[in-house]
Amino acid sequence: SAKQLGRNIYQFYTSDLSTRLNEKLTMQSRLRLALEREEFVLHYQPQVDLRTGHIVGLEALVRWNQPDIGMVSPGHFIGLAEETGLIIPIGAWVIRTACAQCKAWHDQGIGKFRIAVNLSVRQFGQADLLHFVSEVLTQTGLDPQYLEIELTESLVMTDVERSIDILRGLKALGVQLSIDDFGTGYSSLSYLKRFPIDVLKIDQSFVRDIEKSDDAAIVKAIISMAHSLGMHVIAEGVETEAQCKFLRHNQCDEIQGFLFSRGLPKEEVEHLLRKKKQLPHRLLYFSNHAR
Ligand code: C2E
Ligand code: MG
Ligand code: MG
Ligand code: MG
Repeated sequence: SAKQLGRNIYQFYTSDLSTRLNEKLTMQSRLRLALEREEFVLHYQPQVDLRTGHIVGLEALVRWNQPDIGMVSPGHFIGLAEETGLIIPIGAWVIRTACAQCKAWHDQGIGKFRIAVNLSVRQFGQADLLHFVSEVLTQTGLDPQYLEIELTESLVMTDVERSIDILRGLKALGVQLSIDDFGTGYSSLSYLKRFPIDVLKIDQSFVRDIEKSDDAAIVKAIISMAHSLGMHVIAEGVETEAQCKFLRHNQCDEIQGFLFSRGLPKEEVEHLLRKKKQLPHRLLYFSNHAR
């Protein structure tokens, strides 16, 4: 009967809901434990200058090294960490670890490069964000110009006036600011010029189909707009030589992607830095010019 059917659907719905709730609670307490047990690790993905071919930055990407399971990518836990507020202590650990590691590399003399960290909505909303970042810089001794903080469009567009204040505060500390996944959110260009942003990171969805005319036009427009606003451009998700050549040809400043390297554990990225891994000469911006 309809009544019977309704009850079945209802039962199905509730049990499904409680399963999901249970999974969420389990996951939440596992995340909490993971922090205590120091199960989070950072991988580092190189950002490469298209003029020199050298590594000029590293993006710190968090992973959860779960015993018996292995590396869990942020897509599986950042959302819940954000929802539950656990992103605050996790994010704080990320910034501290990334800054300390970058400073250690600088001190070892294996190059001067930036370290980029992703900032979540909750972290951005924290009243003591400026104080926290400033404290980390002091404690680690990292020169502020080498810390780059990645924000998303939706994050800064939610409350524009407040964002401008926070961004100005961060700039006053001497750090670099970038907009991650640029082009996927909505940001009014008139606001963009009011933000003290140094770098736009073109989202990988535009890079993927860069050889198709629509995305080619978008990428070219982003690069020329960024440059005329005095910003640098990093293309994300660069996987092929053709994509790299297109970006180079259109004066993109830096690339990040599997073509050069995926995100690597500390020891492996250190190896690349020590041997001064470079983009092949044929892919460089100046390779077609006599120098
Ligand atoms: P994102 O900041 O845009 O980072 C780039 C993502 O693209 C990374 O995924 C990276 O591994 C991946 N990627 C890089 N090059 C390529 C490529 O050539 N092809 C493809 N297909 N993918 C590429 P990952 O590490 O899984 O991180 C996903 C997202 O998780 C990040 O996107 C970022 O939004 C977030 N995330 C990572 N670490 C943190 C963190 O410490 N805090 C916060 N709040 N979010 C983080
Ligand atoms: Mg990022
Ligand atoms: Mg991105
Ligand atoms: Mg992303």
